[in-house]
Amino acid sequence: MVSMETLVSLCKRRGFVFQSSEIYGGIGSSWDYGPLGVELRNKIKRVWWRDFVQRRPDMLGLDASILMHPTVWKASGHVDNFTDPMVDCRECRHRFRVDQLAETPWVHYCPATKGNKFTIPAGEACSHCGAARTLCPDCGKGELTPPRQFNLMFKTLMGPVEEDAAVTYLRPETAQGIFVNFDNVLQSMRRKLPFGIGQIGKAFRNEITPGNFIFRTREFEQMEIEYFVNPHETVEGRPADEYWHDRWIEDCLAWFRRYGIQSDNLRLHEHARDELAHYAKRTADVQYRFPIGWSELMGIANRTDFDLKQHAKFSGKALTYFDEERKEHVVPYVIEPSAGVDRALLAFLADAYREEEVRGEKRVVLRFHPELAPVSVAVLPLLKKRDDIVRTAHAIRDELSRDLTVVYDDTAAIGRLYRRQDEVGTPYCVTVDVQTVGDSDKGEPADGKVTIRDRDSMEQIRVEAARLAQVIGDLLRGTAWAEVAAGAGRS
Ligand SMILES: [Zn+2]
Ligand SMILES: [Zn+2]
Repeated sequence: MVSMETLVSLCKRRGFVFQSSEIYGGIGSSWDYGPLGVELRNKIKRVWWRDFVQRRPDMLGLDASILMHPTVWKASGHVDNFTDPMVDCRECRHRFRVDQLAETPWVHYCPATKGNKFTIPAGEACSHCGAARTLCPDCGKGELTPPRQFNLMFKTLMGPVEEDAAVTYLRPETAQGIFVNFDNVLQSMRRKLPFGIGQIGKAFRNEITPGNFIFRTREFEQMEIEYFVNPHETVEGRPADEYWHDRWIEDCLAWFRRYGIQSDNLRLHEHARDELAHYAKRTADVQYRFPIGWSELMGIANRTDFDLKQHAKFSGKALTYFDEERKEHVVPYVIEPSAGVDRALLAFLADAYREEEVRGEKRVVLRFHPELAPVSVAVLPLLKKRDDIVRTAHAIRDELSRDLTVVYDDTAAIGRLYRRQDEVGTPYCVTVDVQTVGDSDKGEPADGKVTIRDRDSMEQIRVEAARLAQVIGDLLRGTAWAEVAAGAGRS
């Protein structure tokens, strides 16, 4: 398994992820996606939307605003319950989560060694004087305040005059935007249960201990679905909500596998009763074996009718569905598959990373699924001094870039260019050489063919330039390299 340091370094060096505000020393746990990072991110989101919203007849999309009526967060329970117990140091003012204090190494000025400063591992006592930590773990001097609840929502003011402005919040999850629009979608789109609403958008949580690169950040992006089912219906002899919960768990696991995550690195974690959120009937997390160990990649919760009932209570509006068959109004149950874009990106990145040995040299390659690779095709001229070769390569880049992410690179020798594309996961390189354009000095005619090189096998085939767009399209849509190679041989 690749280390986090290796990934962070690759991400910076090759333009995937930069530290936010780096020239000012950076800001805690904020990251900027560079030219390749934004392509990878966009492709993850596009493929998710296509597979879970566009292709499913039972799904619709939504894009709710980040700023919402403050009562939304009272109804959802976030104002009262979205908190962590915290203590502050009276000396250095650092703040700690109570439940993590025992897991934090601590600074100690030891009276048994004339006040020498030691950093003692988490949970251990001083080996010189036997003291256990009672003071601040960071400065070793300050007393800690009694615990108090700290709300994780970002508070902000809405309106031009600060004194009169209403306090509201940056949304801590996209889900509530879907719940408050349930009736709008139901009325405008005339849906029957079960149906779902998908949404991709930013959310904000003032995490006390963010970290591990893009794994836990205060600003992040969610890909969420709220799938509404009739709790009075049964499917295959089981309550509809339980049946659909299982279906969504299977669909989500299958989705990650389809885009290249190795099965060995995925597992399901069922929440025990005492782990469950107060609204949940059952929650299963999809965990991934990240460089930091097994951690949550996404959660799939059965939120019951909790949210719709809460919003009906606080807004005074009925949020029900009329069941024609049973002639009754029901409050749907909700299955919520909720994934983070940033975490998914980290998982796809870690899973794609390989170090291989090729002819005695180390090759770093990101084996991204072709549909997720930030660059789909690199067009490389074999000789950058030949105008006709360069012109042809640019023309190919222009044509392919109508539908694909394509780069042109002539800044090194071909072997070097291939390695660079391997390292960012480009599945196919196209080279234009002398044979493509011919050599009139030597009386050699142009064959009009270009070379396609496959990233994973490093095999090469020659195809007619006129057929290139179609061949690349077939490969990106999933046709096996061997099949395309056999076809190229025949032509
Ligand atoms: Zn302190
Ligand atoms: Zn000591």
